[in-house]
Amino acid sequence: MTKRPFVTKQQLDEIIAEHPTPFHLYNERGIRETARQVNAAFGWNPGYMEYFAVKANPNPALLRILKAEGCGADCASLTELMLAEAAGFSGREIMFSSNATPAEDFRYALKLGAVINLDDIGHIDFLEKAGGIPKTICCRYNPGAAFAISNSLMDNPAEAKYGFTRPQLREGFLRLKAKGAEHFGLHAFLASNTLTNAYYPALARTLFETAVWLKAETGTEVEFIDLAGGIGIPYRPEETPCDIMEIGRLVREVYEEVLVPAGLGGVTLCSELGRFVLGPHGCLVATVLHIKDIYKKYAGLDACAANLMRPALYKAYHHITVAGKEDAPQTEVYDVTGGLCENNDKFAVDRPLPEMEAGDIVVIHDTGAHGHAMGYNYNGKLRSAELLLGEDGTLRLIRRAETPEDYFATLRGISL
Ligand SMILES: *Cc1c(COP(=O)(O)O)cnc(C)c1O
Repeated sequence: MTKRPFVTKQQLDEIIAEHPTPFHLYNERGIRETARQVNAAFGWNPGYMEYFAVKANPNPALLRILKAEGCGADCASLTELMLAEAAGFSGREIMFSSNATPAEDFRYALKLGAVINLDDIGHIDFLEKAGGIPKTICCRYNPGAAFAISNSLMDNPAEAKYGFTRPQLREGFLRLKAKGAEHFGLHAFLASNTLTNAYYPALARTLFETAVWLKAETGTEVEFIDLAGGIGIPYRPEETPCDIMEIGRLVREVYEEVLVPAGLGGVTLCSELGRFVLGPHGCLVATVLHIKDIYKKYAGLDACAANLMRPALYKAYHHITVAGKEDAPQTEVYDVTGGLCENNDKFAVDRPLPEMEAGDIVVIHDTGAHGHAMGYNYNGKLRSAELLLGEDGTLRLIRRAETPEDYFATLRGISL
């Protein structure tokens, strides 16, 4: 399988004539299509809502597109709550799934009427002191034991900092009820970037069985279950994408097998997908500044890990296309690097690519989620602009590039 950018060389040349590289470019059509697929896959569940994980891409223009497609927003911090508010989300359209949460953040979530998803049993008293226990509340579950799907280990939740243990869920529900909570939700997030249709159904089974157990133990009927994020995307050309319709169908089977016979057939489902919804619909566009040939060959870009951290942080694969050389033979092997004074600032290591020269335009794929969002200012590097390719083909600047003035803004009023 070849992986092609959603823009052509000619389109890129026109864009770059007005907007210098590097920049992240997003594809509105793709975003809307995926949002519709997700909503269709869970359309069988009345009240289902996808709460887009704002951390994956906090651009308000993109949040507004997702809101128009019927999505909510999943936030984890005060500023993410403010962003969701600014993008037009309110009340139950906002999920607040935070951990190690400051009281100020809880107060803001309460003020917005967001659904608060507690990460820990200790947060019950903390939230009560911070502003009170709302009528609707959610608790995050950590099953502890290794989470496996057909014998392949997905992740080890016992090593994860998140969530309540099972006994803590029982105690927490009873305490929350005593403090006035009436509507309960259950949440878990047990694996990241999964490329199997079996993850959500396996997670759903864990959560559904826990809801049945909680009903028996506490008399409380969970009203909503949040499957969170974790459905992955094919970063590599040889990988097969998840089939979201099939995932929705498989979750429905488990729902009918576990929840319905237990009298919990009214449970509303939600998700907090970030990567799956936006990942494939963004790319980082950069220019080759230098080709270098020492013990290895290097292509040095005007973008760096400060624009896309995933390869440096997780050795994550991002596919790279040299614009206009989509079908050229891959005769060379390059490390594709940024300019940070850190040797891990490499978008690709030993990557077969067509021969490149200075001035070539490089498209780094699948940066729509956890791309610009993870940007930082190391080495005085500035965060790039973000552009949106509209459904009608028009281009919109949805975030300008940072300038040195932005970099110095936090020093204003401080004697240097
Ligand atoms: C990061 C995160 C998500 C989104 O995860 P993806 O891998 O982008 O789907 C959803 N919910 C919570 C609580 C998260 O921390």
